[in-house]
Amino acid sequence: MLHRTLPGFIEVICGSMFSGKTEELVRRLKRAQFARQKIQVFKPVIDNRYSADHVQSHDANRILSRPVEKAKDILKFVEDNTRIVGIDEVQFFDDSVVEVAQKLAYRGMRVIVAGLDMDFRGQPFGPMPKLLAVAEQVTKLSAVCVICGNPASRSQRIFAPGTSAGADTSRIAVGAKEMYEARCRFCHEPDGTTRSEDSTPSGLTSSPVNDPREGETQSRLRLRLSKR
Ligand code: ADP
Ligand code: MG
Ligand code: ZN
Repeated sequence: MLHRTLPGFIEVICGSMFSGKTEELVRRLKRAQFARQKIQVFKPVIDNRYSADHVQSHDANRILSRPVEKAKDILKFVEDNTRIVGIDEVQFFDDSVVEVAQKLAYRGMRVIVAGLDMDFRGQPFGPMPKLLAVAEQVTKLSAVCVICGNPASRSQRIFAPGTSAGADTSRIAVGAKEMYEARCRFCHEPDGTTRSEDSTPSGLTSSPVNDPREGETQSRLRLRLSKR
């Protein structure tokens, strides 16, 4: 039977920004390399953070990748002896990436895609819902909410001080710490926010337990909950 010799399947790694999607993708790909399996890694050209030809996490863990304009280009570049195809920032491709992943899986390849499940407003991102539906295996990661310390599922868009929060509403704004931070459902502000002056930059530098803003955060959380 065909499936005995062709173990093709699709794995999706999703979650908010800073949840460790790229780290997890790189971890799986490096393990495959130890097993001497040929891997190929792709990402959309739109993601030019850190390095043009690497997939790189916020923690600087990286692996060589090929930037492609369109999802269909991946089919042109995948070689027959490749066992594993990795795609990072997959949310930036259009729906045709679903067909591409399916084709590769039917060719017997292990396809590992990583991407944001939601945009900064908390809406499903591009092809992600379809990829999640057709995948054999789904991993949903969370970051740490920089406001309250709970698991963060959302990517908070941060606008520059002095910018009105409604000024730049484009969904695609590739950036890292200065433009986004990880937040939980209750601390997330879907319309974006400007970073308040005393706010600690995103990261794990402020302890939610000893944070003097804790009282403020708690009352804000209560306010949010009462609005719902
Ligand atoms: P993703 O690809 O999901 O955006 P990365 O794999 O690039 O995430 O980066 C994950 C790393 O980001 C973590 O290991 C940690 O070092 C760092 N990081 C920065 N801010 C946070 C946060 N709020 N919560 C968790 N990790 C964070
Ligand atoms: Mg990433
Ligand atoms: Zn929170």
